[in-house]
Amino acid sequence: MADRTAIQWTDATWNPVRGCTKISPGCAHCYAETFAERFRGVKGHPYEQGFDLRLVPEKIEEPLRWKKPRRVFVNSMSDLFQDGVPDEYIDRVFSVMALAERHTFQVLTKRPERMRAWFAARRFDVKGYAILQTESGECHYAFPWPLPNVWLGVSVENQHFADERIPLLLHTPAAVRFISAEPLLEGLDLAKHRPGALGLHWCIVGGESGPGARPCETWWIRNIVGQCRYADVAVFVKQLGANPQQRVMYSAPTFEPDQLIHVEPLKLRDRKGGDIDEWPLDLRVREFPTERTDSRKG
Ligand code: SF4
Repeated sequence: MADRTAIQWTDATWNPVRGCTKISPGCAHCYAETFAERFRGVKGHPYEQGFDLRLVPEKIEEPLRWKKPRRVFVNSMSDLFQDGVPDEYIDRVFSVMALAERHTFQVLTKRPERMRAWFAARRFDVKGYAILQTESGECHYAFPWPLPNVWLGVSVENQHFADERIPLLLHTPAAVRFISAEPLLEGLDLAKHRPGALGLHWCIVGGESGPGARPCETWWIRNIVGQCRYADVAVFVKQLGANPQQRVMYSAPTFEPDQLIHVEPLKLRDRKGGDIDEWPLDLRVREFPTERTDSRKG
């Protein structure tokens, strides 16, 4: 587990799974793949197998040893719900999250259909306790279900995947549901999913960073912030990206109306567009969903 992380919306990362396969346009410049492949073949390195999927059972209990409560991004270098991860292994990850109740776990996926299916297949005993498979057999957890300290989220880089993934998320039981619109590749209409009314609590938004970053218009981000405000959904602007663009209005009287708005690069000093002090004032928004109030029954 990485006790420190540069990801602004979390405190730490925990990777009981390593490696993944690309599934949608948001994966094109996957930072996890770039990092992992750098170490392919390096004997003894955690990413000796590059970005190939690998379960890491020796990492699974790490959050239990972490005393100070923190937000933990689960599988920042992978996707817990990809096909190659067995149901029983997901059970073990959730049982650790149940036991490490002092932490808040943020599970983000691009495979919400598997996530939903995994939740739908949960069994409960006569007392209503969730039954999860652990190393020592079936465990019956006397905790509320869904777990109050686990936030579930989906990545939505464009409208197509917003329309596909958000409804699946909204049909999955979760204490807190969130979306990550990063890398944001186009403007999004979230209003059609009635985000506030149907139980979306948080939206992270950001442009792409790294080499070859695709453009992200500040207008797209501004529009998402506005939609979240309207729906009473917390919003966290992570970064404007390495290729931020802005809309500029020209007032030359000879221009046709549709020529009056131009999109042009927004020059920022920070190479990821991550320095909040450089941003337009209205984009400086970094909110978290309301802290949970549930108390565990034990
Ligand atoms: S789902 Fe996430 S970890 Fe997997 S390839 Fe895509 S961006 Fe990378």
